[in-house]
Order: sequence, then C-alpha cells, then structure tokens
Amino acid sequence: MSHKNIDTLKSEAKALWADLQGKELKPKDRLAIPCQDMPSQEPSVRIHNMAEVAVGYSGEQARVEASRCLQCKNAPCVKGCPVSIDIPRFIKAAEEGRFGDSLAVIRESSLLPSICGRVCPQESQCQEHCTVGKSLKDVNRAVSIGRIERFVADYERAKGTKNIPQVAPSTGKKVAIIGSGPAGITAAADIRKAGHDVTVFEAFHKPGGVLVYGIPEFRLPKSIVEEEIHTLEEMGVDIEPNFLVGRTRKLKDLIDKDGFDAVFIGSGAGLPKFMHIEGENLVGVLSANEYLTRSNLMKAYDPEHAATPTYKSRRVAVLGGGNVAMDAARTAIRLGAEKVYIVYRRTEVEMPARVEEVGHAKEEGVEFLLLRNPKRILGDEKGRVRALEVLSYELGEPDESGRRRPVPIEGSESILDVDTVIVSIGNDSNPLLKQTTEGLETNKWGNIIADEDGKTSMDRVYAGGDIVLGAATVILAMGQGRKAAAAINRMLAEDV
Ligand SMILES: Cc1cc2nc3c(=O)[nH]c(=O)nc-3n(C[C@H](O)[C@H](O)[C@H](O)COP(=O)(O)OP(=O)(O)OC[C@H]3O[C@@H](n4cnc5c(N)ncnc54)[C@H](O)[C@@H]3O)c2cc1C
Ligand code: SF4
Repeated sequence: MSHKNIDTLKSEAKALWADLQGKELKPKDRLAIPCQDMPSQEPSVRIHNMAEVAVGYSGEQARVEASRCLQCKNAPCVKGCPVSIDIPRFIKAAEEGRFGDSLAVIRESSLLPSICGRVCPQESQCQEHCTVGKSLKDVNRAVSIGRIERFVADYERAKGTKNIPQVAPSTGKKVAIIGSGPAGITAAADIRKAGHDVTVFEAFHKPGGVLVYGIPEFRLPKSIVEEEIHTLEEMGVDIEPNFLVGRTRKLKDLIDKDGFDAVFIGSGAGLPKFMHIEGENLVGVLSANEYLTRSNLMKAYDPEHAATPTYKSRRVAVLGGGNVAMDAARTAIRLGAEKVYIVYRRTEVEMPARVEEVGHAKEEGVEFLLLRNPKRILGDEKGRVRALEVLSYELGEPDESGRRRPVPIEGSESILDVDTVIVSIGNDSNPLLKQTTEGLETNKWGNIIADEDGKTSMDRVYAGGDIVLGAATVILAMGQGRKAAAAINRMLAEDV
C-alpha cells in the first residue's frame, strides 16, 4: 500500500502522461507502465475524520492507468464482471480522455458506477482475470478497472452532468419494490424506464439499504447514494420511507387490495448473527449492524447534531474477519477508542475481508488477534462488559469450505481487557416477510427461493439481492435487481 503523498502521485502521473503522449505503445510498453496507486488520506489524519479515505485519481492518473490495458480480444476481465460491463471499451475511451463516452459504456450495464467503482471487490472479480495482472504474476498489478470506473463517474458528476434515464409513456401498471438497497434501486429504475408506476417501500427513514446504513462514510460518501436516490425520484419513482412491509402492510395486500400488478422483494440480509456465548447480553455488546447503523444512519459520530448517541468505548474487540468487521473496527477508531482488536479464529490468509480493507485497518492501528476465538464475555457488577476471554486455536485439516479448520488449544485461555464487544460474524435474512406471507417459499437459511429471473413461489412476486443470495455483494444485488426487472417488464407487457 502506497504512502506516497497525494501531490507526489499526481505530479508523477502528469509527467508520465506527458511522456506517453503521441507514442505508439506496444503491449510490452504498456506492461512496463507503472500501476497507479490510489491517492489516500494519511492514516494519522484520517483516523480523526469520517471523510473518504481514498481521494480518487487525477485525470492523468486515470489515463496512465487506462494505458496499461492491452485491449485483449477475448477480454477475460469481462467474464469476471457479474454484470458484464464492456471493460476494454470503457477503458479505451478513458485513455483517450473521452470520459463521458467511457461512463456511457459503463452505464449500459451498471446503474451505479460511482458506487461500484468504490465498493466492488474487483480483485476477486474483473481484475482477478486481467491479462496484465497475470503477465506480471501479481493480481495487485492488474489494470485498476474499478479506480478508472470511479474516476470517470466522479468526473462526470463533478461537471454536474445529470443522467436522468428516459421513461417510456405511462402503461398504467403499478409495481411495488420492497427495500431500497442496490437490488431495489436497480429494479425500480429499470421498471420505471418501461413506463410503469413504481413505489419503493423502505423500512428505515432513509433509503439506500446497506449503502447508507452499513458501509461507512469513509468508504462510500452518503452524498453519492443520495444523488442516485434523487435520480430515481426525478424519474418519477415514489419512495415511501418508514414503511415496513409485513407490519405496516402485508405483502399480499399490496397485490390484492392496493392494486399493484407486481412486487419485487429486495429486503436484504439485515438480521445479525450472534455467537451464543456467555455474557452476550451484557451492556457494551453490540452487533456490527447496530453499531454501524448508529454511526452511519443516525450520524452518532457527530454528537452535536445526532439524535441517537453511540456507546462510548475505550477498548473494543470486534469478533469476525469480514468486511463488516473491518468497517466496525475502523469506525471504532474514528469514534475515539484507544484500542481496537479484531479477534478472528483463522489466519489472515483465510480472512474473507478485502486485502485493501485489512491493510487500511492495520494502518489505522487496529490490532489483529488471529487464531483466537471468544469463549465468554465477562461483566462487572453493573452488568457492563469488562473483559473478553479468548481461546487460542491452531489450524487443522480443511473443512467443507476448503479452508483449514481452526482447532482449539486446550488450556490456552487468556483475558482481553475491553469494554465493548462488537459481534460481526455474518447476517441472516429478516424472517418478517416469510412469517407474514403465506406461500412465500424460503430455504433453510430463510432466503427466498427464486428462479434465474427472480420469480418466487408466488404469482407476480419476484425477489433478488441478499434476500435470495444470503449476504453477498452490491454488484450481485444490482445484477439480480436488473434481471428481475426485465422479467417483470416482460410479464407486464404480456398482461392485457
Ligand atoms: C457493513 C457492510 C459492508 C459491506 N461492504 C461491502 C462492500 O464493500 N462491497 C460490496 O460489494 N458489498 C458490501 N457489503 C454487502 C452489500 O452491501 C450487500 O450485498 C448489498 O447491499 C445487498 O443489497 P440488497 O439490495 O439486497 O439489500 P440491502 O442493501 O440490505 O437493502 C435492503 C433494504 O430493505 C429494507 N427492508 C428490509 N425489510 C423490509 C421490509 N419488510 N419492508 C420494507 N423495507 C425493508 C432494509 O431496511 C434495507 O434498506 C457490505 C455489507 C455490510 C453490512
Ligand atoms: S483483461 Fe486487463 S488488459 Fe485485457 S482488456 Fe481486460 S482490463 Fe484490459
């Protein structure tokens, strides 16, 4: 991870770009162009603010990075993209400085480029397959597809270019969308484009799903998500916040009584899992979901303006090794904790979190306690957390996931002095819709069963995103929203 100063990175790229201009670049020349690091806030500065860590490429950096692309005929990167963006074409346009054209190519397949450019795990998707990374035998030196995507989307946004998709003449048909995360937003946009009336019902007071309540401001500025929501509203999509389908209104009533012709469920996986260990009910034990929601959605990091306070922590243990755990740990640092631990029962190699997020957490002072697992949480006489007892582990044979199974070491207990424990071991789907909707089939994990088009067991009801996949990714949720929208549009077109 680079610690080069932002100005140095930008001026180096400027000089390099001037040098490259007018040259006929052969593949070997392109392979020799250095990979452009992302300019980022210094760790010692950023731990005191909530602003975005990565500040984004300059125009020259984007063009230099785009010049590294070999324009492969078979485009292996596209095969790694869940929504099949025409990557070589958008990169070519970026290299030539046609940033608007570049964004237009991305928008053919993806509704949320500013968001996906920031949060997609490119290293295990498009960039994993990139010929440049393979030729250099280092996935971290693949063409930085996501950073270029982010640059062109931000560039056009900064210019104030409005991209309000065209809406077909009204069909008189009505579609309800449950949930306003990436699956719901995408489905709403595509269905509205076909001329149907669309209402999005959202349980929270603010739309955006995990993009607003889960992913912290320092990774994804909320103003970007708000703009996307605003675009939906400008297209004529009606958003009903504080509306919990299953309580405020039953799903079936939307169809039988309220006249909706179809329903898309994009209600996500927002039910936190717990460890079920002693002491989990003590004051000072929180799920990562609650912790992040308080900080992101209720703005608890800004006590002057926030209505909801956050738990004041001095020493924090975050249990888990995924992206959500990294977000919680890095949030705790910014909320003023003196010491933050990640407690994870395997090693760093098995950690599901993105390498970049782990690197950022380390730079910010998070301490990783690996091959350690909580045994119980200890409380004081007032019922507050005072310590965490952890057991050390070693790795045994691989389990069904292919990862080596952690095996506890007898008698290896030790005590960690903490006042807060944040549980971040995954999420399940919320059971409310299943419990209140007769005929809606789910699997044993509570995920809604849907076919390739997102069609559920119920007539006119479709689903997609985390509620179908289990906790997954933004781009997969978006892709599913898009597929289901296409199927709903086809069904409504056949309706007479
Ligand atoms: C902290 C965190 C960090 C993450 N980081 C990344 C990342 O870096 N990159 C990445 O690709 N993925 C990341 N993910 C995963 C990603 O955010 C999800 O896969 C994605 O948001 C799923 O989209 P969705 O639309 O299915 O659901 P969600 O985004 O969960 O949205 C569902 C919405 O439905 C609403 N809802 C639920 N039930 C009802 C109901 N009955 N009535 C009305 N509304 C309802 C919820 O309030 C919510 O707003 C992260 C997840 C978390 C929690
Ligand atoms: S695989 Fe890499 S080099 Fe080839 S077209 Fe895709 S981004 Fe460019």
